[in-house]
Amino acid sequence: MANPVQTTLLIIGGGPGGYVAAIRAGQLGIPTVLVEASALGGTCLNIGCIPSKALIHVAGQFHEIQAHAGDSALGIRVGPPEIDIAASVAWKNSIVKRLTQGVGALLKKHKVTVIQGRAQIVDGKTVDVDPSLRGKAGAPQRIRCEHLLLATGSEPVALPFMPFGGRVISSTEALSPKKLPTSLAVVGAGYIGLELGTVYRKLGVKVDVIEAQDRILPVYDADLSRPVAAALKALGVGLHLDTRVLGLTDDGKALRLQKGKADEIRLEAEQILVAVGRAPRSRGFGLSSLMLDMDGEAVRVDSRCRTSMQGVWAIGDLTGEPMLAHRAMAQGVCVAEQIAGQTRYFTPEAIPAVCFTDPEVVTAGLSPAQAAKAGIDCLEASFPLAANGRAMTLQSTDGFVRVVARKDNHLLLGWQAVGRGVSELAAAFGLSLEMGARLEDVAHTIHAHPTLGEAVQEAALRALGQALHV
Ligand code: FAD
Ligand code: NAD
Repeated sequence: MANPVQTTLLIIGGGPGGYVAAIRAGQLGIPTVLVEASALGGTCLNIGCIPSKALIHVAGQFHEIQAHAGDSALGIRVGPPEIDIAASVAWKNSIVKRLTQGVGALLKKHKVTVIQGRAQIVDGKTVDVDPSLRGKAGAPQRIRCEHLLLATGSEPVALPFMPFGGRVISSTEALSPKKLPTSLAVVGAGYIGLELGTVYRKLGVKVDVIEAQDRILPVYDADLSRPVAAALKALGVGLHLDTRVLGLTDDGKALRLQKGKADEIRLEAEQILVAVGRAPRSRGFGLSSLMLDMDGEAVRVDSRCRTSMQGVWAIGDLTGEPMLAHRAMAQGVCVAEQIAGQTRYFTPEAIPAVCFTDPEVVTAGLSPAQAAKAGIDCLEASFPLAANGRAMTLQSTDGFVRVVARKDNHLLLGWQAVGRGVSELAAAFGLSLEMGARLEDVAHTIHAHPTLGEAVQEAALRALGQALHV
């Protein structure tokens, strides 16, 4: 074995959790080694957030042009568009490349040592890296550290009776199609199923979505998921709710479905995208030898991202829900600053969540039902986008912004919105909750006109009984 590398901080995984922790550690002067088995940027930059949003943009543009090719109310006349999916995927890949190369450059700038290879945990302070991924034969590289940060992310959950392969694909394959199928069955009406199902439908593919629950996006309340369901139906997406997938037919060409207790039906599909959730990546690299406290497959951490073993930290998807890139990044910063000697906790007031469907859904903090369940007496108010001038000029008046606040002192507890372009409201929602704002703070802040943000102000005004434009 080559001489061991000695470092203060060793990070396993170069996704948004791991690479942000490494950059912050570098800024703080902490000697840091980051081991990545695949590509810097992790799921998020390579096969998740960024590629999916790139394809959502492609499909959105295609769909808009198609809309104008018919009877465009805007007076724009164009011919029917065509899609060159290979070129679309190449464009998506160019964005991924620019971002992942940027991460590499940032790590270099902050003097982080990046080692390409699969990490195998030996003990809480020792890791071996398999060099074969770098095309090199020979013994593993041993790394010793004072602090070990686990940031190995997550992977798609397979249906046991219908494993990935052939026509059964995960989001990874769906994000890099060589050609578009004529039909796609999507199992799971959550984030991935609906974001990517919308992409394929807008590009002209026949799409059917199968969901075990009785409505789509069951993590959100029904007021938020209803406009998305209506838009999917208008787009021609088949929604099979309260429906179980039993498996493939013998010839493998169709899915066997059962709705409630009804008779089995068949649904033909050229490809099947299984999007029934993701599981923490906690197996296959010696993690179990540390005997850490676990919550199922997730590594259990406390409010400072510490595991049950001293000097071993964990962040991001490996630590379970919510599996979101911005949570992983914030945890990464939190750990790096503690290793630098600062007292830090990961106890955010809210972690915003956005589903990039059309219309988009955004939430931060408590919904009215969650606040009621917590026994809090609250005010809630909604402002419809139909009454917002900017939404009208964008031809996107379906949806609303809703606020939840304590009744006694008007402290904001949560925000929700559904509508085209509302994802950008996440910043205002998160900031107001994190700063402990009250309804009056938002209501008395001048919001630029005409913007969707005015609906945020109007929701707060309405909760105070002072709405101006409804
Ligand atoms: P990951 O990004 O999964 O990174 C973990 C890294 O660890 C990987 O690069 C992996 O190769 C490496 N690794 C694992 N084991 C080892 C080992 N033994 N040795 C060396 N390296 C190892 N989140 C959002 O917030 N917004 C979105 O819009 C969004 N869209 C998404 C769309 C899709 C299709 C998917 C699949 C996910 C999406 N997510 C989104 C979720 C987001 O990608 C994850 O929450 C985020 O990537 C988690 O970051 P992480 O650092 O914990 O793990
Ligand atoms: P999800 O948890 O969002 O949705 C899974 C859906 O599948 C649920 O509605 C569930 O009821 C359904 N389901 C489960 N088993 C089923 C079965 N056997 N048959 C039919 N339906 C079934 O999971 P996902 O869409 O795979 O996404 C995984 C994670 O990735 C998300 O939870 C999120 O953390 C992250 N993600 C985030 C974004 C974003 O932030 N915009 C986008 C994509 C992914």
